[in-house]
Amino acid sequence: MIYQRVALIGLGLIASSMFWAMKRGGLAGEIAGYARSEATRATARRIGLCDLVCESAAEAVIGADLIVLCVPVGVMGAVTAEIAPHLKPGATITDVGSVKREVIDSVSPHLPDNVHFVPGHPLAGTEHSGPEAGFAELFDNRWCLLVPPVGTDAQAIDRLQKLWEGLGSNVEVMGADHHDLVLAVTSHAPHLIAYTMVGVADDLRRVTDSEVIKYSAAGFRDFTRIAASDPTMWRDVFLTNKDATLEILGRFTEELFALQRAIRTGDGDHLFAYFTRTRAVRRGIIEAGQDTDAPDFGRGAGR
Ligand code: NAP
Repeated sequence: MIYQRVALIGLGLIASSMFWAMKRGGLAGEIAGYARSEATRATARRIGLCDLVCESAAEAVIGADLIVLCVPVGVMGAVTAEIAPHLKPGATITDVGSVKREVIDSVSPHLPDNVHFVPGHPLAGTEHSGPEAGFAELFDNRWCLLVPPVGTDAQAIDRLQKLWEGLGSNVEVMGADHHDLVLAVTSHAPHLIAYTMVGVADDLRRVTDSEVIKYSAAGFRDFTRIAASDPTMWRDVFLTNKDATLEILGRFTEELFALQRAIRTGDGDHLFAYFTRTRAVRRGIIEAGQDTDAPDFGRGAGR
């Protein structure tokens, strides 16, 4: 057991997956949980998500050695303000938000000096959300990035690292700004592109009736999976990782124009060289064990 008592604030995909994975690994004594809506709390009680489902965030954190903020990035600060007076001295508070600079800036000012703040981000997810979306294997063989501010207690970082390793993840520590730039490239900009492509196809559907859905081929189908991700979460990601996302989108647009020009001018060499380079990236991801070569990307139904 790594923590005697854990509090999960927010009971969606990530929190529920953490709960099942902590139970699988025997990593925590008692796990308390809180979600904003009565409906989510009722669902959690019905499916046995958390040993104790509390009626307020303040109640959930009482006596907790580890508090995990599993709410959208835009409300991390407000939730912290609510729980701060009730935190146990010596406790560690962490989060799972997809953006790190904003979370650090909005959470830190509310925290008392006698708790340890170790922000985190598991690089694992699906397009599903809510308390019933979680499963114990979500973090297996995926990365979890810890982003502790300078001067954070080394033992607190070490203990949280052990928890994530117990949840199945590989852990790396990095700075917040670096994290936000890397994620803008690997996750945030790709999501925006998928949202855009599906939006374009949806406009087109009005012209071609249902052909876009009927003949939806693998490329577009994958875009629709990504573009089905939670609107609240992704709105907050773009509003809070603005600079890095805009930087990457600027570069993306330049490349897109170059490819567009190659198509117009019939520059097959340019297209062939580009696609050869990108194919090697895919091979690298498979070799690093971060995806499979299976035609459905190894995702299986329903995840
Ligand atoms: P989710 O399934 O939509 O769950 C969000 C939870 O937060 C729900 O329990 C919701 O309560 C609660 N919540 C929302 N607004 C709140 C508020 N103002 N006060 C208190 N609770 C509130 O979300 P998720 O996918 O688990 O994402 C949670 C966090 O993980 C986000 O910060 C996200 O950036 C990050 N993350 C997500 C993924 C992913 O792929 N999904 C991957 C890595 C990290 P109700 O149900 O009562 O509304």
